[in-house]
Amino acid sequence: IENYEQINWLFKDIKDSSDQFRLLNYEHTNEMLKKFRNSFGLKSFRPQQFEAVNAALLGLNVFILMPTGGGKSLCYQLPAVISKGVTFVVSPLKSLIIDQVQKLNALGLNACHMLSDVDSSDFDQIYQELVKQESKFKLVYITPEKLNNSNKLRNVILNLYNRGMISRLVIDEAHCVSQWGHDFRTDYKKMGELRSTLMPNVPCMLLTATATPRVRNDILMQMKLRISEESSYTSGNENRLESKLSNRVYLPLIPSSNQLPPNNQKCVFFMQSFNRENLQYKVEYKTSNSAALEKISELIKSRFQNKSGIVYCISRNECEQVSEYLKKNGIRALPYHAGMDDKTRHDTQYKWTNSNECKVVCATIAFGMGIDKPDVCFVIHLSLPKSLEGFYQESGRAGRDGRKALCLLFYNNQDRQKWLRIISTEYNNRNPSAYETHVENIRRIAQYCDNRIDCRRAQILEYFGEIFDRGKCIESKMNTICDNCELFEEKKSRILDVTDKALIIIKGVQKVCHNEDFTIAHLADILKGFQNSKIIEKCHNSLDMHSKLSDLKKNDIERLIRRLIFMGYLKEELKILKHSDTVASYIRLGPNASKILNNSTIKIQFELIDDSQKKNELKNTQVISIRDSDDSDIEEIVNENEAIKTSKKKTNSELS
Ligand code: ADP
Ligand code: MG
Ligand code: ZN
Repeated sequence: IENYEQINWLFKDIKDSSDQFRLLNYEHTNEMLKKFRNSFGLKSFRPQQFEAVNAALLGLNVFILMPTGGGKSLCYQLPAVISKGVTFVVSPLKSLIIDQVQKLNALGLNACHMLSDVDSSDFDQIYQELVKQESKFKLVYITPEKLNNSNKLRNVILNLYNRGMISRLVIDEAHCVSQWGHDFRTDYKKMGELRSTLMPNVPCMLLTATATPRVRNDILMQMKLRISEESSYTSGNENRLESKLSNRVYLPLIPSSNQLPPNNQKCVFFMQSFNRENLQYKVEYKTSNSAALEKISELIKSRFQNKSGIVYCISRNECEQVSEYLKKNGIRALPYHAGMDDKTRHDTQYKWTNSNECKVVCATIAFGMGIDKPDVCFVIHLSLPKSLEGFYQESGRAGRDGRKALCLLFYNNQDRQKWLRIISTEYNNRNPSAYETHVENIRRIAQYCDNRIDCRRAQILEYFGEIFDRGKCIESKMNTICDNCELFEEKKSRILDVTDKALIIIKGVQKVCHNEDFTIAHLADILKGFQNSKIIEKCHNSLDMHSKLSDLKKNDIERLIRRLIFMGYLKEELKILKHSDTVASYIRLGPNASKILNNSTIKIQFELIDDSQKKNELKNTQVISIRDSDDSDIEEIVNENEAIKTSKKKTNSELS
């Protein structure tokens, strides 16, 4: 990467200049603290809130990154109520806006929204109020769509602007500006332009919980802002990985220096650690949907009786089925997806939030932004989320009240491939760059699931550019140790040098896979040494590989193959099968294959989980007696059943 240095300018000097906005002798300090206590009724600031409020009140552009529930709203609401003039807040969702306005009004603060029809009397009333010399409204909420489409609204803004009565422009959920974010909105993208034409020089505040360096950079670019190197700082996580992470290829987004925004468009940057101490992350292997469902229902009944939670499903159909299943098991569940009409959806959300009628929502990711329920005790993903980021956001809806909550993800390779097929049909020919982004996202989340060694938190936070010491997970005060750290603590996982095994696979693929199509499962069958007819059909070409890895479980062989794909030694090629609607993925040599084939110094490490000792002995004898026999499928079934039993036992012991 040639332009490595250039990438760093955005977030390079994120240093802890703690004193900078932590003073108590600003002109605004007294009034600010008074409002904080008396109007908002709060006692102490959360990390970064105090500093961000000060920076805003000093008239600076501010960029705030805090995890969901971190308390971003206060960072603009508090400055808004003590500033002269009106603060405009752009927010993506009507329901979110209505909710916020209600909350502010309940606190006795004057806020309104301009969602209603431009010709309605509501709109007119607000209009009349805003053009008064000193309007009573301190906060006005709008959607970007309205802002882009309503001339009348623009006129209000112009009127206020010309009188110097706009104190701040706030872009909430600012990641919607970026097409790399998980929630891109075209109207958001226009906000940068709109700001510079409609209200240049009005201080701006951007807020988001989306933290990947790529999205961050893009938000700044779109909003025509740049991070002020002298004054950006973070707290609680000095060990930023920024420079390392920006190593990932985000080059097209970085402007050359003559395109950089002018100095007055600098903004200060505040960031909370994204670690959610009270969330417990776990990944379970999904043998089948029905087995997973059974586990979920048992888990809810025993550990989360009368507790609220979300089960994320991959499709509308799945939502319906899952909620039916849970209902049959005596759990008050309801489906929620985009295929339902607005009223039903709203009712469901209402029941779940405010009553005992519904405890568990079985939802697609349509159920998301705008949920503000503090006591969500679990978030379960029945199927693989679309990205690590999506997973962080979705699971992050648990435990906003700060109490311990469970984030459980069910994973298997079929789900990963299902996503790849979906993405392929959706984007492959139409939008190659979106296609690649989505494939990369799936690769990343699958890698997260597959990794049984590294701390879950460390994996998630690394993605967001934060170094996390697993010791904090292991010694978590709330006992929210992740599943991998638990294994690590019990010394049940061991790391092996599998370079030889990897070479067997890579060489095998090199030999046969340029002209023959093998799926991961098929390849694993051969390596394991299975001998069903389908394998034998192609076997004459792949004899070199046959049963060469019979000492590994088939599941582990598949994981190893996927690991080699993640590392670029192998790759998957998606092929659309004619005469059917499906896409299959076949293994080929990856871009890094020549490196390992030509370089004897590369070592590949791979982690295996030790089962309990006894079980291991049993298995070894089984493997030996079954190996090379036609009955080897049985072994798989036995293994699967055992896996179900052990995890059931585990669930049970957890409960007791
Ligand atoms: P975000 O927008 O970052 O997801 P919110 O601004 O909606 O988070 O705040 C989440 C919750 O935390 C809200 O219920 C809010 O009232 C509460 N909150 C925010 N700041 C504080 C604070 N300093 N002390 C106590 N509660 C707070
Ligand atoms: Mg918010
Ligand atoms: Zn951990």
